[in-house]
Amino acid sequence: MNIDKCVWCGSNELIEVAKRKDTLSVNKCNICGLYFLKDVPADFEKYYSGKEYFRGDDVSDIGYAEVYDLISPLFIYWQSVLLNNIVQNYEYPNTLEIGCATGNLLEVMKEKNIKGITKGIDISKYASEVAQKKGLNVDNITIEDFFDEKKYDIIFSSETMEHVLDLKAYLGGIKRNLSLNGSFIFYIPSIKDVLVEKLGNNYGQFQMNMEHLLFFTKKFLEVEFKKFFECDIFIHEYDRGDDSCIVGIVSRDSSKVAKTNKILAYLNKESVDEEMSKSLSKQELYDMAIIASKFYNSTLAKNVLNKLENGINLNEKLFLKGIICYQKGELYEAKKAFLKSLENEFLTNVDLKLLYAVEKDIAKYLENKNAEAEERIIEKENQIIDLRSEISKLHDSRIVRVSFLLNRLFNSVLRRKNHNGND
Ligand SMILES: [Zn+2]
Repeated sequence: MNIDKCVWCGSNELIEVAKRKDTLSVNKCNICGLYFLKDVPADFEKYYSGKEYFRGDDVSDIGYAEVYDLISPLFIYWQSVLLNNIVQNYEYPNTLEIGCATGNLLEVMKEKNIKGITKGIDISKYASEVAQKKGLNVDNITIEDFFDEKKYDIIFSSETMEHVLDLKAYLGGIKRNLSLNGSFIFYIPSIKDVLVEKLGNNYGQFQMNMEHLLFFTKKFLEVEFKKFFECDIFIHEYDRGDDSCIVGIVSRDSSKVAKTNKILAYLNKESVDEEMSKSLSKQELYDMAIIASKFYNSTLAKNVLNKLENGINLNEKLFLKGIICYQKGELYEAKKAFLKSLENEFLTNVDLKLLYAVEKDIAKYLENKNAEAEERIIEKENQIIDLRSEISKLHDSRIVRVSFLLNRLFNSVLRRKNHNGND
């Protein structure tokens, strides 16, 4: 499918700025400033329909290189912190996640949002069915086709907008489903005009995810989204060179997102200054640290942790430490912190022993296909599954910590199965 007009404003004043490694070109619209693929494979939606997108472990640069369900609870925890910060300003908040995949974020959100509806939609039949099996309110539909009598106060989308081609239809679906004082919150990769000019084909965003169709600058969002939604727009860009990203909020009532905007505006800082500690509560500072660790700002996260030394309990501290380590890729340290924070809280000694034992056996098995170790793993597999179902009964951050540990086990179990070629 050749695209010869801007998919947003219809202009034909286009310039080719880069060629990707899949030989597709990227165009920029000279009028509105949107970047998009010049040629789009006609069947691009097929990427998302199958199980492979969420469970694949190949290296094709399409989909999730790691098994989505296994990394996700911790990966998306910052999102639940961000959204809960807004959710609490509504009395009966209805929330909708676009592209909810297998529902890991919804699981955490549902716990906090007792009075309102927590709903998700996803283009993938496979992923929606997994989410439905978890008891979540999820439809297999896209936002373009989603009509509901209810309106949603919070519509959230993480890394979906860059996958669509018809941006007007996508945003139209959001506009139609947003309540009178609702907010649309999105997280996307962003690009910078100056860097595109400088780097061309070598721009990281153009060469990393081959299923991305649109590329956004901060300016495009600020100007065009304001025109489209006719309400306040807040764009927070986290500058990581050619791997930058944006958290944006479109709000019909900016009082509902004022505190959240404050937190997001601080995320590029390194230390906790006086103004910050004056204007944010301890809880908000704690939330900020968790979100900051997502944006690789572990300096800020650590400084908040020091600042809060006397204000939070030991478990919260250990949890935050675990998050910081996890986001930095220090998985062993993260695990240590999570285990410590869980010791007296949820997992009994027996549970902990089970986790350790299975992990040891899996390592043994992967090393030398030890048959006895495998037998012990198979024996314990059901116990792990039972433990996992307990997660759904837990509350907020504990879900994440326990998931983290159990998911590591699942990951290993899966690797073992793939090893045997029977999955
Ligand atoms: Zn345009």
